[in-house]
Amino acid sequence: MSEGAAKKEERRKFQAIKGTRDLLPPETALWNRVEQTAHAIFSTFGFGEIRVPIFEPTELFARSIGQDTDVVSKEMYSFADGDETSVSLRPEATASVCRAYIEHGMQSLAQPVKLYYMGPMFRRERPQKGRYRQFYQIGAEVLGGSDAPAIDAEVIEMVMTFFDRLELQGVQLDINSIGCRECRPKYVELLRAELLKVKEKLGADSQRRIETNPLRVLDSKLESEQSIIAKLPHIADHLCEDCATHYAAVKHQLEMRGVIYRENWRLVRGLDYYMRTTFEITAQGLGSQNAVCGGGRYDGLVELLGGPPTKGIGFAIGEDRLILSLQESGKVPAPKGRDVYIAWMGEKARATAIRAAKHLRKAGFSVELPPVEQRFGKALGQADKLGARFALILGDNEVSEGLWTLKTLADGSQTKFTEADLLEHLRKSV
Ligand code: AMP
Repeated sequence: MSEGAAKKEERRKFQAIKGTRDLLPPETALWNRVEQTAHAIFSTFGFGEIRVPIFEPTELFARSIGQDTDVVSKEMYSFADGDETSVSLRPEATASVCRAYIEHGMQSLAQPVKLYYMGPMFRRERPQKGRYRQFYQIGAEVLGGSDAPAIDAEVIEMVMTFFDRLELQGVQLDINSIGCRECRPKYVELLRAELLKVKEKLGADSQRRIETNPLRVLDSKLESEQSIIAKLPHIADHLCEDCATHYAAVKHQLEMRGVIYRENWRLVRGLDYYMRTTFEITAQGLGSQNAVCGGGRYDGLVELLGGPPTKGIGFAIGEDRLILSLQESGKVPAPKGRDVYIAWMGEKARATAIRAAKHLRKAGFSVELPPVEQRFGKALGQADKLGARFALILGDNEVSEGLWTLKTLADGSQTKFTEADLLEHLRKSV
């Protein structure tokens, strides 16, 4: 390498890895609001927060999500840990929550156990608007107890309540039942047979899926396949009696809760562990990646991971997309500037300014205390830039008189206050 090239390399600017991004203020205020709303709503439904590790044995995901799914076969960030065991960054959290349920013997707690989580997930997908390699999910799982349709309906009601509280626009809930271990394989075979008849008319992806996962053909967005897919048999007509009864009851329970849904027979989920109830929620302003939430029932999963037979249902919300949709529809809190900028000059004033900042912050106000002395003109300019509502002016006069000047930046008016009166005044006006 030439000296010049080496220098250039040394000065190389680093950038966030493709598909990852920084979340910055003021946008992070919206993220916090969304997360706080989730904590508040989910706890009213009796859910407790679980935090699971960011990485787990690769085998946990391979076994639960399915070896043949895109997530496991193509998209996981896997690496050998020191002792050669393969570990992966979590592509989702349901498997981890089930592992934790087994590991902590949660089946001996009152059933069902209701848990929620939030945090980053990792999938090596092709990045685009609403699709990232590090993205964030907020999800919940109900594990154990019965598979009563009311549980499915209440979980869905909880997500819809959450979206409603956030004033998410254009929310559309699609539901379906994809049957159980008894009836689904028979339907899948029927579907495969029908697909083979029209194989030549299908695209390469769908042709491949006839063998690997025919249900996923129903997911296809390819324009040329739509008229073919429309003629395929519907799973609703091939559910076993138990599944059909369960599905009808879920719909009834949703109606009792005033939850508006649309039946979508083509809704199948990309992960292997789902059975019976599946659902997806879309929202406005997201283009092609418009699903903000996906979920469903997964009764066999805990057992598959070595636990006792356990019922399960859950969902995962794509937080990035939720935020995007809120931003697109303008449901964004106004960025909050500082409440008070302390413009101080002189050593005596500095001591008073430090004390004032301490008191104001303790009272909950957002305070900017410049670290070095500034001329008042510059200080007021800075206060303006930061969107401060008030400037507290502390100079020699103010300190010796014990009367502090408060300037309202919007109209330029100034009033003098004693320290105690100032706090009272701010409390009333901020
Ligand atoms: P899934 O875990 O695949 O069922 O996805 C649940 C939800 O997570 C989806 O409806 C999306 O909102 C979100 N999601 C999944 N993958 C991504 C991704 N790569 N980037 C952003 N959001 C995603």
